[in-house]
Amino acid sequence: MTSSAPSPGTPAAPLHQTLILIVEDEPAIATAIAKRLGAEGARTIVSGDGLDAVAQAKAAHPDLVLLDIMLPGIDGLEACRRIQEDRPVPVLMLTARDDETDKLIGLGVGADDYMTKPFSMRELVARVKALLRRVDRAKQLAQDGSGSAPIQAGDVVIDQAQRRVWRGTDEVHLTPTEFDLLVYLASNPRTVLTREKLLEQVWDWVDASGTRTVDSHIKAVRRKLGADLIRTVHGVGYAFEPVDGGSAAASPAEPAA
Ligand code: CA
Repeated sequence: MTSSAPSPGTPAAPLHQTLILIVEDEPAIATAIAKRLGAEGARTIVSGDGLDAVAQAKAAHPDLVLLDIMLPGIDGLEACRRIQEDRPVPVLMLTARDDETDKLIGLGVGADDYMTKPFSMRELVARVKALLRRVDRAKQLAQDGSGSAPIQAGDVVIDQAQRRVWRGTDEVHLTPTEFDLLVYLASNPRTVLTREKLLEQVWDWVDASGTRTVDSHIKAVRRKLGADLIRTVHGVGYAFEPVDGGSAAASPAEPAA
């Protein structure tokens, strides 16, 4: 019996056949990241400039983009928008400070995960693998239809097959991560979910530093969908509290009273 069996939720997925675009203007960091991901079996492209990164993403169709926020040319924020506009691709954004991460999540930039510098290469690899697993899982759910049943929670409707969300009659646009977070919360209504549980289920990655990511994404979902839907349980986590329709303006055609 080996003592190093991976836990069920985190298979030691190799990164071979994965193409990763590394956008980082500090050559020492870019080289170190490329070397480490290369050792894990990934192919890498390095770009040190925002505009060049957009062009590289368009030309090479990477499976994942690691994107530094402070770049020459256009910054990581604008580069992320342009890259996503062309073709959806998972983006892991590298930020300098925690409050910068909060700000970016608040802006709904569309990155799937954030890492604050300095980080360890071990953490980076774990996050890259977790993000790729999430993307695979979402693709599978969309394909096999098992996750395609719409979720109705109070006046919120979530179409998992199309990845669209409505509150009442208004469609709400969420980033991929916000969507996954909402699906998990709404699938467990009136249940207190710890930050660690949310990290594990939505990000597929548990680390003390990640709980801040959860808080920031909750803030973003509240801002877009309404603050009344997600209750903070101080010191513990969050609970989704469905609100029946009719609380806002006129409700749509109501099949049942
Ligand atoms: Ca930089």
